[in-house]
Amino acid sequence: MTRYISTRNASDAISSHEAVIRGLASDGGLYTPESIDVRISPEEILNDDYRECAIKIIGALLDDYSEEEIRECVYGAYDDKFDTDEIVPLKQIKGGWLMELWHGPTSAFKDIALTILPRLLTAAYRKENRNDIVSILTATSGDTGKAALSGFADVPHTAITVFYPEIGVSAIQKRQMATSKGENVEVIAVKGNFDDCQRMVKEAVTSKEVLDACKGVTISSANSINIGRLVPQIVYYYWSYAKLVKAGALKCGDPVNFVVPTGNFGDILAGYLARQLGLPVKKLICASNSNNVLTDFINTGVYSLDRSFHTTMSPSMDILISSNLERLLFMLSGNNDIKVSAMMDSLKAKGSYRIDDVMLKKIQESFCGYWTDEDACALTIHDLFVEQNTLIDPHTAVGVSAMNRYQRETMDSVPVIVLSTASPYKFCRDVYASITGEKLSDDFDAMDQLEKLSGVKVPSNLSELRNLEIRFTRSIEKEDGLKAIAERMRNLGNDQD
Ligand SMILES: *Cc1c(COP(=O)(O)O)cnc(C)c1O
Repeated sequence: MTRYISTRNASDAISSHEAVIRGLASDGGLYTPESIDVRISPEEILNDDYRECAIKIIGALLDDYSEEEIRECVYGAYDDKFDTDEIVPLKQIKGGWLMELWHGPTSAFKDIALTILPRLLTAAYRKENRNDIVSILTATSGDTGKAALSGFADVPHTAITVFYPEIGVSAIQKRQMATSKGENVEVIAVKGNFDDCQRMVKEAVTSKEVLDACKGVTISSANSINIGRLVPQIVYYYWSYAKLVKAGALKCGDPVNFVVPTGNFGDILAGYLARQLGLPVKKLICASNSNNVLTDFINTGVYSLDRSFHTTMSPSMDILISSNLERLLFMLSGNNDIKVSAMMDSLKAKGSYRIDDVMLKKIQESFCGYWTDEDACALTIHDLFVEQNTLIDPHTAVGVSAMNRYQRETMDSVPVIVLSTASPYKFCRDVYASITGEKLSDDFDAMDQLEKLSGVKVPSNLSELRNLEIRFTRSIEKEDGLKAIAERMRNLGNDQD
């Protein structure tokens, strides 16, 4: 059975369902598989539909769930909440393929994991016969928030609180969250950026003030620091590979490259786990926006926060502290918790750390990094629409731009799959302006105009937003996060009595 150990204390070892419940380790570390011993060859999933593929992959890593339990979770998650039976369709463009991950209920790739995480959590609770409340604390740079609110709304034994940066998310993203339904949900804007929001959530699990307030309440997370978020994201790497084989674009066993628009390093780490499981991946191309801390890190081995924070039109990647990198460092150092703790301490105290050359070389064997500024991002959206009649969102554009640069610079001819991470309509004002040069002031106006221009239908969950009631308007200072969390924990505890 796979044991999950904390990146900051390798002797803290638990099973997969326990890791799903806890989210983050109590020492602040991230639960990571102690070793990956299973191998899954792409042949094994070649003729599966998305659900059957998911059962094999998720079952291989979350291996203390029974096959029945995983099957129930998978079939409950990947149903007609998605607007296509394929769940994840592929679309060919010049130079590669787009893997469209945004056909779920909130139109972002986060839906793939957050439609199943509540089910995995509920199943884990049943295993333990527990009936305390799990309070899901979630920091969002825009998309996780709504996907988690949608996934956890009115799920028994759970409550969810989402923190988002007041300035930084798109108007549509904000409205999606503010209009969320469900008796167990809470949404709070923070006067700060994503890193401030994530810090609150991470500090909550070690804060005395918060823990004292947790009577009958357990804190967990829906961020990609939860391994139950990460594992379902491995599935589509296999799935897209199999689709290319079936389309005759690839011989089974031949390598592919993936381009991953990256913020918290979760999605791309799932790609690395796919590679560890045996998927023939040559390079994972890490695509960043102007917050290019990861590009520099992959090129130099120095992770440094000594840089300015940029608010961009790809807000879900406006992140300077990429949490899941900690898992990669842990795996590449041979589960060296002491070394990883020292690096994370250095990041906190000095704002930087440096990895040694051996580790840097290992990282560069699997990864390379490119970043794209706002002008190039807009131009990519424009060109793809005008030249290839393909409408993409700014995050996906950062990915396509990285693909183009990579292919020009390396002449690598291995097939490339770009992860397309959000519907263009979540960022319709910027997408419309990129294509037409015209800046509209109203988001719903931009939505209508973009639909008229492109002929691509607006997903119903986004078009209906204009008519929904705004339920959440609370906003707090970034210093008041732990106080707000403690208060929420006390209320949840009282509700229970
Ligand atoms: C979250 C998100 C990303 C980045 O994913 P990470 O797992 O944080 O690296 C990219 N694009 C979109 C649209 C997202 O919502």
